[in-house]
Amino acid sequence: MLEIGHEGHISISGMKAKLRLNLWWTTMDKDVEYWVDTCKGCRLVRKITPPEPITSTDLPSRVWEMVAVDYLGPLPSGHYLLVIIDYYSRYYEVELTKSPSAENTIKVLSNIIAREGSMETLVCDNGPAFIDKRFTKFLKNHDIQLRHTTPLWPQANGEVERQNRSLLRRLRIAQALKLDWKEELLAYLMAYRTTPHSTTGVPPGNLFRGRVIKTKLPSMKLKIHIDDEAVRDNDRLKKHLTKVYADKKRNAKESDLAPGDKVLVRQKKDNKLSTPFSPEEHTVIWKRGNSVVARSPNGKEVRRNSTYFQRIKERDTNKVGVQEDNDDQDVTETSKDINAEIPTNVSTEAPMDSNVRETPTLSQPSRQKRVHRTPHKYNDFVLGLIMDCIHSNI
Ligand SMILES: [Zn+2]
Repeated sequence: MLEIGHEGHISISGMKAKLRLNLWWTTMDKDVEYWVDTCKGCRLVRKITPPEPITSTDLPSRVWEMVAVDYLGPLPSGHYLLVIIDYYSRYYEVELTKSPSAENTIKVLSNIIAREGSMETLVCDNGPAFIDKRFTKFLKNHDIQLRHTTPLWPQANGEVERQNRSLLRRLRIAQALKLDWKEELLAYLMAYRTTPHSTTGVPPGNLFRGRVIKTKLPSMKLKIHIDDEAVRDNDRLKKHLTKVYADKKRNAKESDLAPGDKVLVRQKKDNKLSTPFSPEEHTVIWKRGNSVVARSPNGKEVRRNSTYFQRIKERDTNKVGVQEDNDDQDVTETSKDINAEIPTNVSTEAPMDSNVRETPTLSQPSRQKRVHRTPHKYNDFVLGLIMDCIHSNI
């Protein structure tokens, strides 16, 4: 009956409605969900796995300990911008190059290292220049640790992504108003470095140089006192608020992938009929944070963010028609079904609910089914703070 009901790969709700026209058995709803969940065809077109909650990184202990580099471009002039960001102070340098080659990257970084010294760790994506042997050798010579971010996941380097967005915005303004973009870039860098950063609360230039950077505005304070504790507190609070907001907005969910799991991998859309997931079965061999490495049947390894994978649920026909006497199980099954019917781009209350459920409450009976919601005024409080952060961000 299940096989006939699912002919044409009818969805869970459609299949239930269709079967109910003529049939009924005690475990029908559960069996239908299981059947569609384990269908070899349906899993290829399943909605993309939600991202995992943001793992906020701690602020490095000092300036120039952890630095990120990234290329932006090409601009209409043919230039590329090499952006170099210090994670502690959020200070950054922008260098112009005519091509994003390994040679040019080494040339620019040599200059910067001569001025500031070697950084402890350099974070970069998997661009051709950054995986070039000459580049890795250059870093080794300067005793710099190289850390690559997960391929195809620019969010992994949030700080760089944010700065690139702000930079691009200014360059677009310059282009639209027909201004000299190089001059505008310098004006922006000066303004950015002397404006209190929304996360640390201190102008990046001051924090980086350890002195007050003089601007055109009258200034009374010329001596600087850096309160590292205050910088850290600010950084933690802002990162936490951003995380709460972003996790809710992105419907984030913890991934339970583990080595040995059979998975499908998201594939590139080649044409209108490409399925989101490739039918080739991979095996997870490594997972750290939200970065996962899986191996294909012919031994090819692929490293991606966990949202690129979907665990394969093999169908076990012995599980069909079996009654489960666990009430809690039924509750989760039903809520999962409801979520499955909602398109991905519509935000739901789901992550908020799961957060609330995790909040430890005193003397809560273990089988209580009612979900306690935090008063709505609390949401406004958090949201208000976030809006403040967004507005104070230049
Ligand atoms: Zn199907």
